[in-house]
Amino acid sequence: MRNTFNAALLLSVILYSCRVQLAGQNHPRKEAREGVALTYFGAAGWEITDGRTVVLIDPYLSRINGPAPPGGGTGFTLPGDKRRTYGWHDPAEPDLAAIDAHVRRADYVLVTHTHYDHVLDVPHIALKTHAAVIGTESTENVMRAYAVPEDQLITVRGGEDYQFPGFSLKVIPSIHSSLDHKHYFSSSTTPAGLKPPLTLEQIHTEGGTLAYLIRIQGHKILAFGGNNYIERELTGLEPDTVLVGAGGSRKEIYDYSGRLMRALHNPPLVLPTHWDNFLAPYDASQQPALDALKSFIEEVHAASSQTKVIVPKYFEPIALDEPAK
Ligand SMILES: [Zn+2]
Ligand SMILES: [Zn+2]
Repeated sequence: MRNTFNAALLLSVILYSCRVQLAGQNHPRKEAREGVALTYFGAAGWEITDGRTVVLIDPYLSRINGPAPPGGGTGFTLPGDKRRTYGWHDPAEPDLAAIDAHVRRADYVLVTHTHYDHVLDVPHIALKTHAAVIGTESTENVMRAYAVPEDQLITVRGGEDYQFPGFSLKVIPSIHSSLDHKHYFSSSTTPAGLKPPLTLEQIHTEGGTLAYLIRIQGHKILAFGGNNYIERELTGLEPDTVLVGAGGSRKEIYDYSGRLMRALHNPPLVLPTHWDNFLAPYDASQQPALDALKSFIEEVHAASSQTKVIVPKYFEPIALDEPAK
């Protein structure tokens, strides 16, 4: 892919439609004290905070030059990229400096599934912040391998609806993106008793996939970690904000955006997630991914003309409007 490592280019290309709103550059993260703000970390990673409680979703800051998902070839070699490359049998080594630069505190970490672009950084974040890690048994077994204390681990399977201080969380059964032109399938789960260092392959056992409905300060935020969903599980959720997987594999799914918008009754705000090339460093151009995102935005608007789509910029908080009373 074309690559200039030019951050300015990345920042300049996003606005191409008057219906696409730019992320809230007037809301520096430190000042997001009033209301709820969401900050994109790339891949499927987000921070959601009301200034008191910090909830992370699939936080992945390392962006290692790792192997591509099934059917994605052998990964990308970007011109000028000096990072080491990782294979499936290499030890999983998060970029601690990258994590520490962007994650200062967290109270809860929600993990949608146990793939390395969702879970690689979570043990370090959990050990550093003492956040509770909410995820499948597969995800929690990765945490156990890295000696995250048992009292921080909340194992879920989908269907739970939990009250926590400051927010509540409904765990939604879901399914993984249809990778490799529908040939991807995994029923494997990370076993208990693994000893570090784990290989990338060992932290890439899907273990089932979940979505999450976060109710906070009058908002209902539905977060997906990939490009698929179980339509009947969305009945009655009525979110005002949805993090929707907007990667290319959604095109394997029948009427992906249309069925989703109808099932959710035309949510006011959609934030595309997992649309960028997460094998590229943060300062690389995401132009091909941004170009590909146009068709997603068109799909959403065709299905739900009043839905606003905001293309997130890395690390720029998006402040939500006050919830309707
Ligand atoms: Zn995955
Ligand atoms: Zn992923």
